[in-house]
Amino acid sequence: MKTDVQIGQEAKMLPITEIAARLGIKEDELELYGKYKAKVSLDVFDRLKDKPNGKLILVTAINPTPAGEGKTTTNVGLSMGLNAIGKTTMTTLREPSLGPNFGVKGGAAGGGYAQVVPMEDINLHFTGDIHAITTAHNLLAALLDNHIHQGNVLDIDTRRIAWRRVLDINDRTLRNTIVGLGNRGDGVAREDGFDITVASEIMAILCLATGMDDLKMRLAKMIVAYNGANEPVTAGDLEATGSLALLLKDAIKPNLVQTLENTPAFIHGGPFANIAHGCNSALATKLALKVADYVVTEAGFGADLGAEKFFDIKCRFADLKPDCAVIVATVRALKNHGGVPKGQLNEENLQALEKGFGNLEKHIENVQKFGVPVVVAMNEFPTDSEAEVALLRALCESKGAEVVLSQVWAKGGQGGVEMAKKVVEIVESKPSEFKPLYDVNDSIVDKINTIAKEVYGADGVDFSKGALKQIKGYEELGLDKMPICMAKTQYSLSDDPTLLGRPTGFRVTVKEIRVSAGAGFLVALTGDIMTMPGLPRVPAANHMNILESGEIIGLF
Ligand code: ADP
Ligand code: MG
Repeated sequence: MKTDVQIGQEAKMLPITEIAARLGIKEDELELYGKYKAKVSLDVFDRLKDKPNGKLILVTAINPTPAGEGKTTTNVGLSMGLNAIGKTTMTTLREPSLGPNFGVKGGAAGGGYAQVVPMEDINLHFTGDIHAITTAHNLLAALLDNHIHQGNVLDIDTRRIAWRRVLDINDRTLRNTIVGLGNRGDGVAREDGFDITVASEIMAILCLATGMDDLKMRLAKMIVAYNGANEPVTAGDLEATGSLALLLKDAIKPNLVQTLENTPAFIHGGPFANIAHGCNSALATKLALKVADYVVTEAGFGADLGAEKFFDIKCRFADLKPDCAVIVATVRALKNHGGVPKGQLNEENLQALEKGFGNLEKHIENVQKFGVPVVVAMNEFPTDSEAEVALLRALCESKGAEVVLSQVWAKGGQGGVEMAKKVVEIVESKPSEFKPLYDVNDSIVDKINTIAKEVYGADGVDFSKGALKQIKGYEELGLDKMPICMAKTQYSLSDDPTLLGRPTGFRVTVKEIRVSAGAGFLVALTGDIMTMPGLPRVPAANHMNILESGEIIGLF
């Protein structure tokens, strides 16, 4: 069997100018990054402002398990399948972060015969967007420390600094640092630390901004610290907005690439899916809707986090109306939800599948609460038995859910034709009645309760004393009328990663509330969230190489 990187390197890519031409994007609206990557100018919006939008399809999934679900693979395969049946289609995906590639993760450009290429580039430096965000973020950190060093006119409380530094490398030794050691001229000493770049609020902002003006407005609002009077100090107060925006002038433009079957793809922006909303940029999705009839996009983690935030944060801010949601499930993962340990997932087990189906069932119900028509995609693995596939189909149908088999990993676009036809049928016959779950004007406590009860199936929410104090503080500052970004384990519908399937009779605990005033949401943390990953005992980096011939080894 060929590896993903082998399949990727055998791809017959078309020049990116040709991909753009198929979408009606003009040559002077393209900025080429070599032969197979280009940034697309936001001027396209002006030119096509009267053109109606295409249809928007969200790919989401059951709660992730070690068995793997395949959202990106399904997303890419669905876009190839839609293209194969004659629909002008684009896929829009997140940009992978570099750091995790060198740990355990492997790439994030799909898998098998459903990939986006050139996958080596996409998984490495790509068009430099993440580097630009690293630089912008750290410039702001430098401006902040310099302000304190130069006399601290804004009276910044050095114990209440809310702006760390970032790097796109998994490096646990930088999680907690001390800066400013040395002599008088070396700055003011204080505790600091690093997060991985994709956890930067600037990444979340880049992905929610609807244009340069909106980007600047959001950058200006970022809270970097509090002053002696306990008032927020913002990037705007530090007069940093212009320089940060300047550093992001290219990063704001969507990156055009292609799938193995030359379907156009925007890969743009990749915010964390826990402390941020985990979706590709709003600009890429909106631009794709202007140039394609069908746009397939993805949200991180399972539907409890990914789809909820896609609907309640991204769609709300970007004024998007999803037409259909595809929930990816696998027989293997559902058996895992039904109690089968990772090592025994290759064996047929109908009882466990039926038990684990509860997880999928809850996600189907959840997506329907947003008024969006649903189809389940059974992502076929070589180990699935016929009886298992038949049972899963019957279980979905018994709940009134549409269901299709996806074979895109093994067969590419042809393996996605059934799924594509079903999506078209749904989009053409069932109008979406999309609405967000809650009103942003509800109280913070009410909004979190609504998400926990409606989406997770919790009995209620317990707030720590600290969280209640923070909520009061945000209410006093007028920062409470924003959507909520839940930071919760992705492995369970609950906040306990060991509760698989469809747990009931549990409560959710909110330990802390943070504000991302520029991104425009409040982050509710239900557990300890790691914002700077480490490397494992044997990092994937140890097996990577590039040969004299240019052949790349071990990136997957
Ligand atoms: P997600 O987006 O949900 O994290 P990916 O699409 O990136 O998942 O897939 C995770 C891994 O599982 C990838 O290595 C991919 O190649 C593999 N994979 C996905 N679908 C299949 C399948 N049907 N058969 C075998 N491997 C698959
Ligand atoms: Mg993915």
